[in-house]
Amino acid sequence: MEQIGHWIDGKRVAGTSGRMADVYNPATGEVQAQVALASTAEIEAAVASAAQAQKAWGATNPQRRARVMMEMVRLINRDMDKLAEAISREHGKTFPDAKGDVQRGLEVIEFCIGAPHLLKGEFTDSAGPGIDMYSMRQPLGVVAGITPFNFPAMIPLWKLGPALVSGNAMILKPSERDPSCPMMLAELLQEAGLPDGVFQVINGDKEAVDAILDSPTIQAVGFVGSTPIAQYIYERAAQTGKRAQCFGGAKNHMIIMPDADMDQAADALVGAGYGAAGERCMAISVAVPVGEETADRLIEKLVPRIEALKVGPYTAGNDVDFGPVVTAAAKANILRLVETGVAQGAELVVDGRDFSLQGYENGFFVGAHLFDRVTPDMDIYKTEIFGPVLSTVRAASYEEAIGLAMDHEYGNGTAIFTRDGDAARDFANRINIGMVGINVPIPVPLAYHTFGGWKRSGFGDLNQHGPDAFRFYTRTKTVTSRWPSGIKDGAAFNFKAMD
Ligand code: NAD
Repeated sequence: MEQIGHWIDGKRVAGTSGRMADVYNPATGEVQAQVALASTAEIEAAVASAAQAQKAWGATNPQRRARVMMEMVRLINRDMDKLAEAISREHGKTFPDAKGDVQRGLEVIEFCIGAPHLLKGEFTDSAGPGIDMYSMRQPLGVVAGITPFNFPAMIPLWKLGPALVSGNAMILKPSERDPSCPMMLAELLQEAGLPDGVFQVINGDKEAVDAILDSPTIQAVGFVGSTPIAQYIYERAAQTGKRAQCFGGAKNHMIIMPDADMDQAADALVGAGYGAAGERCMAISVAVPVGEETADRLIEKLVPRIEALKVGPYTAGNDVDFGPVVTAAAKANILRLVETGVAQGAELVVDGRDFSLQGYENGFFVGAHLFDRVTPDMDIYKTEIFGPVLSTVRAASYEEAIGLAMDHEYGNGTAIFTRDGDAARDFANRINIGMVGINVPIPVPLAYHTFGGWKRSGFGDLNQHGPDAFRFYTRTKTVTSRWPSGIKDGAAFNFKAMD
């Protein structure tokens, strides 16, 4: 069986901890590989050599660092299918969806080619007599990325691109569920010209994460995953004075106004609710039609669309709408939550509980579910299900609908479907959620804007990618410089204003 180790100092190495985890093929339920789980000692050694390698890399001019990203763009495009296949095999998502995962990461690498411009700093000529003032953006040193299973290409690329091009070394601790793609990205970075040791992939679980958090050398941690772990990492990273940006879970609401184009809204909900089996932090998991009549029309349009969804393995190519969920435990958790929905009185309008796929009976497939008449006190409303389950909460008014989204503990994404510009504007202005779609169900910002949720979907004060990423992965040093002949007049001991 394939053994996946770590990527340290420019090569694949076996783990030495003696601990391994199984990597499944979610479509068949079979264990297809084993991944090493790093010990604290392995993390410490990898961090020490990254710190060594960072010195020369940080001193390399930004244009040369950007050229590594330029080459990386070419290599990712060259290997797009290989990367996507590795993702589908371990994650279970469809092949086109896996290519989208790579593509949205690639776009951030394209953005990073502009690093010399983004790292330019600020300059004030003649801030005082003979005095210039300038601010530089310098790398932090060694930083870490800790990433989730659901986007094994996109999120590592969102982290490694800005971190490396800013002159840092990075320790990436990807999800132990689908480790192959991050290892392949490390190989591509080497081929693109990144010096060995600047990027290390250390596979592992809590022990590796805790070693990262406690390392005095690591200066910053970028995390994406579930909310309890995001909060834990944010708090523990702060104890050693690290910068931390930790993005968590979600419960994204889509509000459907009575004037919305109902076919468009239903199509959007089906794609955003069931794509990738609902395992997206920007998936829509709550539909909020405004008014009983809107709700009835919406449900009528949704049911046949959901019943027609094709669920299957990625090997079926374009013939499949979504694949299995990632593990048997994830499947059991989704089905458990569906039972609580039924028990607590929600109406299960599309029931996927008995779904089974011939030839793939041991795979982690979950059929599509649609609930109607869900209320805010139910577990299926409060909890992130992370599966193909859409809940409908009927709201009597626009105010009630916006209030639901605002009162929910999560604040990652949201959307409104309407033809009324006034309602859309009001919604965008008032909502306390980080990413908003207007007639767009999954409003993931492009690489040159920033991505981040509010409330318990994000801990820390800067977003991912866009200009924020360059702020997060650099620190500012401000120099006040004076070269006047007047220095001969003698030292000044007062704290001078710039006159
Ligand atoms: P997870 O929290 O289980 O794991 C994320 C990372 O944390 C992994 O690398 C994992 O090894 C590590 N980890 C897990 N348990 C740990 C522990 N006890 N101590 C230390 N480290 C630990 O998340 P997941 O299941 O891989 O990913 C799904 C979650 O990620 C969902 O909640 C989803 O909404 C969220 N997500 C959020 C965003 C966003 O941008 N907000 C994007 C993608 C996914």
